[in-house]
Formats: sequence, structure tokens, C-alpha cells
Amino acid sequence: MNLFTYIKRQLSILTVVNDYAKLKRAGLYWKGHCPFHNEKTASFTVSPHKEIFYCFGCHSGGDVIAFIAKAENCTPIEAAKHLIERYQLTVPESINFEASSKNADEKKHYYDVCKLVAQWCHQALLNTPSALAYVTNRGISSTSISYYCLGYFPGGTQGIRSLLTAMQKQQLLPDDLIQAHILSQGKTVLFSPFEERIIFPIKDHLGRFCGFGGRTFKPHDERAKYYNSRESNQFAKGSLLFGLDVAKHSIQKTEKVFLVEGYTDCIAMTQHGYANTVATLGTACTAQHLAVIARYAQELYVLYDGDHAGQEAILRLTELCWQVAMELKVVCLPAKEDPASFLGSGNNLEPLIAQAQDLFVFFINSLGKDFTGKSLQDKLLLTRKIIDTIHLLDDPLKRDLLLQKAAKTLDIPLEALKNELRRSKTPHRSSVHAQVPVYDPSPRNATPQLEKKLFFAILQNIQLLTRDNEGYIIEYIPDPFQTILKKLQVLKEQYQTLDFTQFFDKLTGDEQHFVSKTLIELEGDTSVKEFDQLLLQLQKKHWKSIVLAMKTKLALAQDSAQLETIEKTLQDFLALKKKLVHKNLI
Ligand SMILES: [Zn+2]
Repeated sequence: MNLFTYIKRQLSILTVVNDYAKLKRAGLYWKGHCPFHNEKTASFTVSPHKEIFYCFGCHSGGDVIAFIAKAENCTPIEAAKHLIERYQLTVPESINFEASSKNADEKKHYYDVCKLVAQWCHQALLNTPSALAYVTNRGISSTSISYYCLGYFPGGTQGIRSLLTAMQKQQLLPDDLIQAHILSQGKTVLFSPFEERIIFPIKDHLGRFCGFGGRTFKPHDERAKYYNSRESNQFAKGSLLFGLDVAKHSIQKTEKVFLVEGYTDCIAMTQHGYANTVATLGTACTAQHLAVIARYAQELYVLYDGDHAGQEAILRLTELCWQVAMELKVVCLPAKEDPASFLGSGNNLEPLIAQAQDLFVFFINSLGKDFTGKSLQDKLLLTRKIIDTIHLLDDPLKRDLLLQKAAKTLDIPLEALKNELRRSKTPHRSSVHAQVPVYDPSPRNATPQLEKKLFFAILQNIQLLTRDNEGYIIEYIPDPFQTILKKLQVLKEQYQTLDFTQFFDKLTGDEQHFVSKTLIELEGDTSVKEFDQLLLQLQKKHWKSIVLAMKTKLALAQDSAQLETIEKTLQDFLALKKKLVHKNLI
């Protein structure tokens, strides 16, 4: 057994995919929104029975290894290692692991270093009254401190020395900490940009520690208020969300998510019962952030500061949000309040959530404020901006509703706006996203249905391909079916107890993709009886060739006087002819 087969025996694809997409049962399959492309209809399909997935939107497909390789942007062997680590699988020594990858080891090492440092900082916070007092004075409970593993990074030579001693016990060298950008080498001593800061460990959606946000807290500390870990493959501020690892279950359950701007806002929201809250890392929300959130939620509530910058940030979201299949709503906080301050002074958020505005309505309202008093130039610019944004939307009904709203707010005739929309030159969504070329040797229209069904039946039950029928099927089925079935034929000879997973693992990436696609495209079960029918149909279709082949075979056999072969061949041929005549097929 190879490593991939072993992993698939231990893990269900549903468990793994669940970390990335919300799936619902649909007959034999599970369906949901694709984690790899933005879509409004659920085209992503998983077959738990065959342990494969396929997306009808972006045409990605394969097994759990292919899924992780795509989701984590890594090689198949890295994907295997990722799964072993994530699900703590014990791989027996008999399984060949020699194709190890340095890259995956380095990644894991980075996460390990960050985790150990986060735990050390957490302990330091608990042991440092001044730092702890700052955190608790900000209304953060001791439960939250441990829930988010908040910490404190002690400063000075003593702080660094104590870190090095603690890490040495974990077999980590100063170099490990320098490579993880936690320490820097000064002229004579090591120092850290995180010194004397409150530490907010940042984890990815899988709960791996991938970096830190550090906040100054001492009076007269003149440094920048926040310092974040250095941008890297593991720490990408444009897609990481603080709190997602702990919030995701609650998000999945409620199908709602609250998006806030800061760590303390996120913690305050969770403390007040909104466990489905995440925060960007002090940066603007990007299209990637939205795509990540859309894997888990249907509705996104934006809770930004009530100040001008917060409102501007919300307006910028309008330009991104048409790319995701989510309802976006804006919860308007009073000016000068942020979620933490608002909740901290005992206010009730519920009425504001109930009054949350659709993001586009918010957008029109904000731009349309004091519209009549504006200059003609400004009026034209604003109208154009609104029209361009409405134009980005897919849903015609929503477009109409927003046009009506805009007409009313701006006091412009609806027809005029509709004309503007028609003239709008902004490229529409579908033309922005070019189709990704995919491996599809037989496009849907050109695929012979009969052969495809037969192939599908065999994939469902590989025992259907037998010595008696393999000659006919493999001979008369076109590629890529033929090549794949030939492999199956050889493997069945080699392994007495061959199963689907073992067979699948022997295929090339393209073949695996094709098999996944076929299995998920053709739904339902094929009974043995139906299979026999399909086989007869194929034989009928190629009857002339079969007769010709039979004649050739007989001629050859007579030459070498192989009586037994002649007899067997003739018997088979006549039996087949009888069957076809009986069914009125020839
Ligand atoms: Zn997709």
C-alpha cells in the first residue's frame, strides 16, 4: 500500500473538506459552495463513497490529496504530510515515506516555533502583573486570555535570555527564532520587535500558529502601536483572519459572521456572546478575506468603527463584495464608538444588528447624503460611481431594487439611471473572470453517452470488468476511457483484492481528475442488469467489427491448429449473437 492509499483509508474526505467548505447532503453526494472559486450555486460535490470531489464550476477534482494540494497550494506529498500532521495519523514503517519534502518540514517547523513562542508569551502575561492589568483593564476576561492564548513579550536582555532558555529546552536554537522573524540580530545582542508588547497570536483556519500581532501598552512607548509578523507564505495578512480557527464552528452553525477591524473588538464581541466574530489584522478587508469567509457563512455583518475611516473602509468593501456569494450587511455604530467600547459600556448591540443595512443600500445612502447641495460635477461623478457598482451585480432583481433605491435617494428619474446602466462600460463579472483551461479530453457534447455510462458503471464497481467482457469493452471504448480501463485490467491481474482507492492511486493526476468528474457527473447506481444491457448496446454498436475480428481470429487459430481456441472463440461468438438476436439488437 502506498502512502496516499493509507491516508485515504484512515480519513474521510468529508471530514477534511469540512474545514474548507460547508456541505449539505444531496442523495449519494454532499454539495456546497466551492472553496476554490466564487459562486452562487453549489457546484462543489463530494462522493464520500468513492472519496473524491468534483466542482462543476471550476472543474477541479480528485481525491483528498488533490483537494489539500489545491487548497494549501502544495505538492501531493506535502498534502499527505499535512493530513498526517493535522489528523495525527501514525504511518506504519512499512509505508514508503522516502519522497519527503524539505519544504513541508520547514513549514511545520515554522508553525511549531510560533506555537512555542506563543505559549511562552502566554505564560509571561500571566506572570507579569503590569501587562495583565493592562489587558484586564481593557475588559478582556481571563477566559478570553486563554481562549485566544494572549501573551506578553518581556523586554530587555533579561527577557530575551529567558526566551532563549525556555526555547533551548524545546531544542530550539536562536537561529530558529531569527528565521521565524521573532528575533533579530543586533550589533552585539539579539532583540525582538515584539518586546514590551501585548501579543495576539494569529492562527490560520486550521488553528496553526502562523504569526503575531504585538501592541504597545506602556505609557510613553513611542513606537508604532502595532507590530505584525513579517509577511510570508505562512503569514499572509491579506487572507488571514484573527479568531477564525475558534469562530468557524459557530459561523457554520449560524451561517453568519461578524467582521470587525481589531483584535480587541473581536475578543469583546466573543465575550458578549458573538462567538462568530473574526477580525482582519489591522489591514483593509481584501477579496481573499471575503472568499475565506464565504466558505463558512451566508451573511456577513460588518462592524467597523463609527468614525470616518471606518465608514470609508465599508464603502471600499462595496467594490469587492460582488465577487462573493454572501449577503453583506452594515451594522452602524454611533460615531466615536468601536465594537469593544460600545459593548464595554453596557450597550445592547441587538437593535443595531436588527437594523443592519444591506451594504449596497448603505453605499447609496452614504454617497447620496446631501446630494442636492452638491455641484453638478460631483453629482455626475457620484451617480457614475453608483451605477458602476450596481453594474457589477449578478442578480438582475437586486440590480433593479438598487436602481430604484438610487433613483429615490438621488432624486433622479429611474429611467435615466436605467439608461446609464445600459451604457455603463464597466466589464461585467462573467467577462472579468476568464475561463480556466482544464483537462477534459472529451467535452460533454462530444462524449459518447453509452461508453461513458459503461465506464461509469465500472468505476462504481470495478468487479464488473471481467476476463469475459474486458476484451469487448477495452477494444471498443475510446480514450481516455480505454487507457484507464487498460490500467484497471492490468491491476486486477496483479492484485487479487484490488479496491477502488488502490486503483485510483495508480492513475495519473489527469486520469484521476477525469475519473472524479465522471463519477460525480453521472449520478445514481448502475445495477448488474443495467450494466449487461449497456454492454450489449456497445456490442451491437460495434457488431460489424466484432464479426470481422472473429473471422480474423478464426483464420489465425486454424493456421496454428489450435483447436481449443477455435472452439472457445466460436462458442463465445455464437452466444453473443444469440443474445443480441434475442434482444432484437441485430
Ligand atoms: Zn469550483
